[in-house]
Amino acid sequence: MTVRTYIGLGSNLGDSQQLMAEAYTKLAMLGVVKASRLYHSPPMGPQDQPHYHNAVVRLDTSLTALELLDELQKIENEAGRVRLRRWGERTLDLDLLLYGDQTIQNDRLTIPHIGIFERDFVILPLLDLDVELEIHGQKIRETNIAKHSQLDVLADSSWINI
Ligand code: ATP
Ligand code: CA
Ligand code: CA
Repeated sequence: MTVRTYIGLGSNLGDSQQLMAEAYTKLAMLGVVKASRLYHSPPMGPQDQPHYHNAVVRLDTSLTALELLDELQKIENEAGRVRLRRWGERTLDLDLLLYGDQTIQNDRLTIPHIGIFERDFVILPLLDLDVELEIHGQKIRETNIAKHSQLDVLADSSWINI
């Protein structure tokens, strides 16, 4: 049995598109994947850092949520991630946005991921993948962010092929 999950990817250090494409290839070993378009967005938090590349990958997997988080953190580490400051620059950030329709709250995981509804760089790529997507019964396309946000699109879903 598989669960439909959505993973947020972000990068603003190094060769971001390359690092994200490599992450996609690794995620493809964990199940069936599909990629959103690739976006460019201003940083959250400290403003003295480069813009981010952002995307979302949908993954249908038989891993548990914690097993998947382990895999995501391993891929982040392989991309050379180091923690400098909160919401600071990073080579690769992988957030588990949704795990089926489950709500999970423990030391390591909050699902749905906190802040989905405030982040255009999450909402817009989620809509690329599933325009009817609902979180706790709310259609994300009906949120103000979905209706009003505009982000630069760097590439269509073929950004994974580099
Ligand atoms: P934000 O979570 O606001 O996007 P961030 O991505 O910069 O900030 P990190 O430093 O990457 O935060 O992660 C800190 C911790 O968040 C991780 O060690 C992880 O255990 C925890 N965490 C909680 N929920 C999730 C989730 N849904 N996906 C990924 N990590 C999560
Ligand atoms: Ca994040
Ligand atoms: Ca994170």
